[in-house]
Amino acid sequence: MPSAIRSHSQSPIRRFRTRITKFTNCRLLKNGSLVKEDLWIGADSGKILDGQDVFFHRQTAPDQVIDLGGRILSPGFIDVQLNGAFGFNFSIEPENSATYVKELTRIKKSLVETGVTSFLPTTTSQRPETYHKVLRFLGPSGAQRNANDGAESLGAHCEGPFINPCRNGIHSASVLRAPANGLEDLIACYGQDAFDQHTSPIKLVTLAPELPGSLATIAELKKRNIITSIGHSAATYEEAKDAVESGASMITHLFNAMSPLHHRNPGMFGLLGQASVPGSQKPFFGIIADGIHLHSSVVNIAWNAHPDGFILVTDAMPLVGMPDGVYDWTNGDRLVKNGHILTLEGSDKLAGSSITLIECVNNFLKWSGTSFAQALGTVTSTPSRMLGLENCKGTLEPDADADLVVLEDAIDANGSPKLQVEQVWKFGQCLFDASSHSE
Ligand SMILES: [Zn+2]
Repeated sequence: MPSAIRSHSQSPIRRFRTRITKFTNCRLLKNGSLVKEDLWIGADSGKILDGQDVFFHRQTAPDQVIDLGGRILSPGFIDVQLNGAFGFNFSIEPENSATYVKELTRIKKSLVETGVTSFLPTTTSQRPETYHKVLRFLGPSGAQRNANDGAESLGAHCEGPFINPCRNGIHSASVLRAPANGLEDLIACYGQDAFDQHTSPIKLVTLAPELPGSLATIAELKKRNIITSIGHSAATYEEAKDAVESGASMITHLFNAMSPLHHRNPGMFGLLGQASVPGSQKPFFGIIADGIHLHSSVVNIAWNAHPDGFILVTDAMPLVGMPDGVYDWTNGDRLVKNGHILTLEGSDKLAGSSITLIECVNNFLKWSGTSFAQALGTVTSTPSRMLGLENCKGTLEPDADADLVVLEDAIDANGSPKLQVEQVWKFGQCLFDASSHSE
């Protein structure tokens, strides 16, 4: 049983002025390892501070010292595929703006308790009118930097509707389309505002590369700093390779809703089998480690093929935390929830997960036998590199955002390693403390 987390405040006058916190007696996740170091953060800047500079050069003492009793201090988790949670669906048109914003705020605050401090709100395939109504609420929080808002949107993930009807999963076939006219078709679908250079709400688009016009579209998106992930696709290895050469840098939920690996026709997964030589481009890829979407050995094959590209995602649905039953979905469809298994009514098609990111990390730890540091990298430094945000998210280096998770490591009843979220900090402020919740 580890000792309790102890906090010592210094002079209240100083605390009011500078609000600097120093974490001590902890293991920091840095460069793929856990290292015993202190960490300094500032609530005013919301950033990680250079402890040496603050203490020795500016001769500033911390206002608060927190003894973590040997626990792990990790950057906050990033979920790049989350369809909704706690009863709210990002893809549902709002009855009015105020209700949608209120619900979104509720989700952001609840997400923090699972260790997620940033995410990409993900929309499943919809009619254009729906995008025109919801995307404006899902854009990046940007300069606002309000810790009390909870988890921060880094921009929307538009999954579809430019996907293959043969690999649509639960996406309604009636709304799917091909980007035959390239960007013009995306503007017609997502709206002109979605492509404004400075205020675009979209961070990432999932599309199927084999559709007419897809390769030109990928190149146009890259010019506009929008990431393309390939998925819901029947692409061959060669088609997938062309997509990466056009600028795609991610694969959406690898193995699910795509052509399977065949030894003479490896499909999208074949991209991870390329030789690691200069010029070869292995994409990042999302993995749903809920124990239902993928066999544990398949998760390990993907990890061993390309650990630097491996990103755990939840693909969680709004039904997480709801009782079993049949629920309305979008486009007139309905979903059946049976424990952790979600399916489209009248079929055996899996309909996303009902798992949290920390549960995915714990499953991966159990299946792979990898280290805590490597498992945590799949939800911190790897997604931040994929998003091009490696200097401000997913890292504990000075000047990065002070988004933090305090974790306790333990062994579960079956003898497997397990991590537990103890505290979550956003922009230098503690938003969740498990010890105060259990009292
Ligand atoms: Zn999907």
